[in-house]
Parts: sequence; structure tokens; C-alpha cells
Amino acid sequence: MRISILTMCPDCFNSFLETPLIQRAVKEQRLEMEILDIRERTKGCFRKIDDSPYGGGRGMIIRCQPVVDTLEEIRTADSHVVILSPTGQPFRQKKARELSGKSHLVLICGHYEGMDERIYSYADEILSIGDYVLTGGELPAMVVTETAVRLLEGSLREGSADEESFEEGLLEYPQYTRPRVFRGLEVPEVLLSGNHEAIRQWRREQSLLRTRKYRPDL
Ligand code: SAM
Repeated sequence: MRISILTMCPDCFNSFLETPLIQRAVKEQRLEMEILDIRERTKGCFRKIDDSPYGGGRGMIIRCQPVVDTLEEIRTADSHVVILSPTGQPFRQKKARELSGKSHLVLICGHYEGMDERIYSYADEILSIGDYVLTGGELPAMVVTETAVRLLEGSLREGSADEESFEEGLLEYPQYTRPRVFRGLEVPEVLLSGNHEAIRQWRREQSLLRTRKYRPDL
């Protein structure tokens, strides 16, 4: 899989690219990462990446030229182009799974008050990572990249994503490790029983209870 990120803050990705999940996928040639600085592609005598909005109002808007020129530089017939924006569709695990199957994912990060609306006509879809407003699309691009790369073959142990939260529309069951008692808090007896069927049933029940309590919408 190849992931290209268009941003005006390429340095934001420095430590992200060094995280074990991303580094390992790159090293094993399952992933190719490309961070493109849209500011470097800005044309015109003042090389301005943004301008004030038509119609007036506060804040600055990213201009079409640097974004569209960068996109045209890297886009192929296989590219799937996503713009990160609070106005997009909510990004969910199902979408992460779908994106992990793309051969070339392009993520466009906005900034300031946002981007010229005409840039959106170059996107296959617009995604929001939640109902709140961040300063730029860099954190959302990292969220989308990380969730998609986790689901690439070879990133996780075989089958370990299958029981995770959201996979079956449920939250994951509670997990415990040593010690058996921590400051008076005990590990549920069933997990120590060695009875795999009882453990499976208990986990299923806990998943349902948790989902009903915290995320009845699921
Ligand atoms: N004025 C815009 C609005 O009200 O919808 C918000 C612009 S925001 C300050 C700047 C950029 O951050 C956006 O263009 C987008 O790329 C990114 N961004 C902020 N919040 C986001 C979210 N929840 N999901 C995805 N991207 C987000």
C-alpha cells in the first residue's frame, strides 16, 4: 500500500513515521509513505498558500493551486483521494478496513479556516474523525493512516483484530493481566478457570453489557 499525505506541516509527521507500526510496515515493504509539502509547490510571486475568503469573514483559506498541483503530481488511476474535514462523513473502523484495501491512499490536510471548496471536487470522499474542530488535518491524517496500516496483512498477529472493538458492532470485553489481586481488586474467577467455553461466553456477555452501557448507538 502507498499512502501520500498532502500537508503544509510536513514536520508534524517526523515522529509518527518513526512509530514501530509504520516503520516496520515500511521496512517490510508492505507500505510506502510519502509526505508532500504543499507550501513548496506554491506558485506566484509571493508564494502564498492561502488568501482571504470571498464574501468576507475571518480567517484564511488554502488556495486551490498548491493542493491541486501537488495532487496531479502524484495521482494515478488507482489513487483514492480523501480530504480530512470536520464537515466530512464520520470515520469509523469499517471505513479503516475499506481504506486498508486501497493500493494508493491520498490524504489531504486542511489548515486555517479550511480549503477552497473547489478542491473538494478532486476528492473521492471527505472524512471527519469526530465532532470537534482541530487546527489542521495532520492529526486526522495520522489517525486514518494508523488505523488502516494496523489492518494491513502482517501488521498484527493473525486474527487478533477480529475481536477488537467495533469489529462486530460491539466494544471489546474487559482484559486483565498479573497480578491476580491488585489493591483488593480481583480478576474475575472465570478467567482463571481454564474453561474456554465459559471464558468465551463471559467475554461475549461483557461485550454486550459494555456496548449497551457506553455505546447503545452501536
Ligand atoms: N472552518 C472549518 C469548519 O468550521 O468546518 C474548520 C477548519 S479546521 C480549523 C482546519 C483543518 O483542520 C480542516 O480543513 C481539516 O483538514 C482539519 N480538521 C479539523 N478538525 C477535523 C476533524 N474533526 N476531522 C477531520 N479534519 C479536521
